Amino acid sequence: MTKLNIVLFGPPGAGKGTQSAFLIERYGLVHLSTGDLLRAEIKAETKLGLEAKELMDQGELVPDHIVIGMIRNMMEAHLEAKGFIFDGFPRTRAQAEALDEMLNLKSEPIVAMLALEVPEQELVKRLIGRGATSGRADDKDEAIIRNRIREYENKTAPLKDYYSAQGKFKGIDGVGSIEEITARLMKAIG
Ligand code: ADP
Repeated sequence: MTKLNIVLFGPPGAGKGTQSAFLIERYGLVHLSTGDLLRAEIKAETKLGLEAKELMDQGELVPDHIVIGMIRNMMEAHLEAKGFIFDGFPRTRAQAEALDEMLNLKSEPIVAMLALEVPEQELVKRLIGRGATSGRADDKDEAIIRNRIREYENKTAPLKDYYSAQGKFKGIDGVGSIEEITARLMKAIG
């Protein structure tokens, strides 16, 4: 049986976490969010967590080998999964190549990259709004939010071309109600 391995893509604040919750339920997938995994390390005060926190609080990416290792461990822990939703990963070309290598070894490639598209002004508004309740240091300060968006544009957005070249890129309008956007994603999955 082919596995439904999906990259849910988009800038910070695009709604990847919110939409993942619906998709995992609808399709019985395992959610792999590197942001959530890193925040769990911070909460547990591990060495890795301490190292990651400094970078995350500034809106910088954490090193590739750290997130690639976390993803590898989680995939090995969920061999039974019907598929994975990768949320916030890959974020660099090296991460995308490492992911392809891991999945191709098992002949379970990414079937689609669903890219939520949201204008920058709307992203900043959403993230500042979330900062009021999330307690996330990186959501509180507009300069840090803009730095995250810059990191996305410089290092992560080019992955659209990487997946386009494989015929897997699907752009999804990420503005609208949560339900409308879920419906667009489900239509794209087919
Ligand atoms: P958002 O999409 O809102 O920025 P995330 O939870 O996905 O939230 O990421 C929060 C932070 O965690 C990022 O700004 C970055 O510092 C770090 N991070 C998460 N995933 C990765 C990744 N794949 N590579 C590098 N850093 C990551």
